[in-house]
Order: sequence, then structure tokens, then C-alpha cells
Amino acid sequence: MTIVGSSRKHAWIRGWTTTSKLGLFGLLLLAAGCQGGSPPKPNQALPKPLPELAQRVKPGHEKARLVRIDVYGAGAVDAAGTRVVLLFEGAPLFHQRQLPPQGILPARIAIELEDAEWGETVPVSQLVERGGLQRVRLATPNPRVVLDLQPGASGRVFYLTDPYRIVIDVSVATHSRRKRRPLVVLDPGHGGREPGAANDALGLVESQVALDLAELTASRLRAIMPRTRVMLTRSTDVDLSLEERCALANAMEADAFVSIHLNASSEPVRKGGVTTFVLDTTNNRQALRLAARENGTRVAEVTGIQGLLAKYHRQHQAEGSLTLAGKIQRHTLKRGRSVLPKLSDRGVRRAMFYVLVGARMPSVLVEASFLTYEPEARALTRRNYRRALADGIASGIASYLLAR
Ligand SMILES: [Zn+2]
Repeated sequence: MTIVGSSRKHAWIRGWTTTSKLGLFGLLLLAAGCQGGSPPKPNQALPKPLPELAQRVKPGHEKARLVRIDVYGAGAVDAAGTRVVLLFEGAPLFHQRQLPPQGILPARIAIELEDAEWGETVPVSQLVERGGLQRVRLATPNPRVVLDLQPGASGRVFYLTDPYRIVIDVSVATHSRRKRRPLVVLDPGHGGREPGAANDALGLVESQVALDLAELTASRLRAIMPRTRVMLTRSTDVDLSLEERCALANAMEADAFVSIHLNASSEPVRKGGVTTFVLDTTNNRQALRLAARENGTRVAEVTGIQGLLAKYHRQHQAEGSLTLAGKIQRHTLKRGRSVLPKLSDRGVRRAMFYVLVGARMPSVLVEASFLTYEPEARALTRRNYRRALADGIASGIASYLLAR
């Protein structure tokens, strides 16, 4: 990769072209504040941009097409942030510019697209007025997507692949450390058209088992920590994008985000076990394969994208995530072993799960058992084992919240 330019005004990169048939996508990670064409006012707190910028570019000059703009996290009036996801066909080169307030214009983040166009169904302007985001709009003549920010808001930009999407996380500086009840967001993995892993012989589907575990965990957590608020990212069998799951936790200023999954292997496994993951880089082949499956992408994409995204995450809440992971791992094993004494401890591991990228609170992903390991799959058909795992996850979260 070649960094072409980076400054306080704006930052961009023209990346390498690749002849690999699969390597059509790229990654870029930028931190953004209200910085731009004129010197910032002294009272503006400006987050520093991250130094690493990288982008691989699709060879040739086919126009990429912006097909959708999704805004997540704007449901609540007092949302602490929003996430805007630009979904593309193709992978455009882009620059981001941070612009300070100018006359009647508010502070803005502009995503300038090269060799790109947008579909007719993409709205020219969407009024949001929540979570630091005033409006998302399309602008010309140089095609760009502009986010008008509310006062005091800032943003971070990164991108994910398969399909290619540019993600802009907008957040509002929270002034008051007001005493409030802790909030835990539980995220049952998959759902809708993405059922996840399965054990056909026993009729087990990951999305359903994960939802059941999340509901059991929620009710257990409410029982042992009555002051704690618990939310689920989904309560039915619906489609939910990876980006939306963590956007909800960010908007609600959650204290912990726990994504619940069941593991599986295409090869026969001699032992199953419990694993709790934090977001980080890994060279471990199993972890890479698992992340690729959970992300709905390829191992090559995970390998390519993981370094910068993990660093972005690490700088924010790696320590809390490791503590939370350790406690969930220990408690889940302990409770699980009350039903399956030989339940294996696969430990706390690192992997690049897209669902955790951008989370602004300690966040982990639990693979609670193996759907493809016979003893655990059989146990998962029974209520007592599911309840034991859920009790363990809840106890781990409670232990983390109490120790903060
Ligand atoms: Zn999964």
C-alpha cells in the first residue's frame, strides 16, 4: 500500500492495484473529528486521526455504484451516536474530508467518491436529527455523501468488505457521567436469511439456539442484577446486519456488548468446548476460518482487513473486553460443566469479528458450545444445558459489572 497524503485537513490514500481475482476490496480506517479547511476553534476537542490509511483499489475503471444508505441507532431521541453504512456494488476509491462549521453550514464529514455513481432509489437527503447526525445527503458535481453533524459530534470512518461498505460512526461527546443503571446488550448471532451453523441430524440451527440462549441469559441477568437493563439486538428470527448490532449498543451507550454464537467445524471434532473471543488480530488458522464464517466473508478478506481494524478497537476498550471475556469464559465453563463435566475450555481467544468492530464499550463474542460435537449438540437439545450456559454467561457479565 502507498500512503499518498495525510494532513489535518483531510487524509486520503491511493492504494495498490491487485491482479488477484479475489482481492478486489480494501480497507481503510480513519479517525475523524471536526477538523478541516480552516483552523479549529480552541474550544473544539479534536480527536486525532489515526496514522494508518490503506485502500486497495479494484483494477480497471468500472464505476462503483452506491446502492443504499442505512442509518442505524437513531431510534432513541437521546441516542449517543449513529452509524451510517454506505453499501456499494464494486469498491470505489474514496477520500474523507472533515469540515468545520462554515456560515450556516454545520460541521460535516464528506465522503468523496471516485469513479462512482448512485442508484435512483438512494434518497438525495435524509433528515436524522439524532445521535449527533443532522442529515445525510448526496452532493455533486464530484459525487460525495455528506453527513451534516449536530454540534459537538464527531465521526470515525472505516470500511468492510464482502459486500463493500463504508461505515461512518458518529458520536456525541457525553458531558455528564450521570449515574444511570448499567445497560447490557446481548446479541443473538445470525437470524432471518442467515441461520448460521446447523446440526441437521438433531434439528439444531445456530440462529435459533443463540436466540434462546440470549433470552435465557437476559432473564437470568435481570434476576441476579435487578438494576441492570438488558436489551437484545433481535428478539425474533429476523435479518440484522453485523453493523446494526453494535450500532444499537453504541447509540444506547451500553456498558457491555455480548454476541452469542454456537461453534461448528466442517471437519469432525474430537472435542468441542467453550471459547470467548475479543477483537484482535490472529494468525491462528482456526480462528481465521471461524471469523470468516461468522463475518460471511473469506479467510483472505479477514487476513487482509484485521490489522487496522483491531488497532482501532484496541485503542478504545481492549482491556475491558479481555476482563469481560475472562469472566464469561470462566463462569460459562463452570455452569456448563454442571451438566457436561467434560466440557472443554478453549480459552479466551482473539479473532477479527466484524460485529465487534467500532463498539465503544467492552465487547466479546461467545461460542458457547459446538453444534457439530455430538455430546454438546445432544446436550443443547435439552433445556437444562441451555439454561446452564445462559446462567454462566449472565454470571460472567454480572461479575464484570460488579468489579468495575
Ligand atoms: Zn455464529
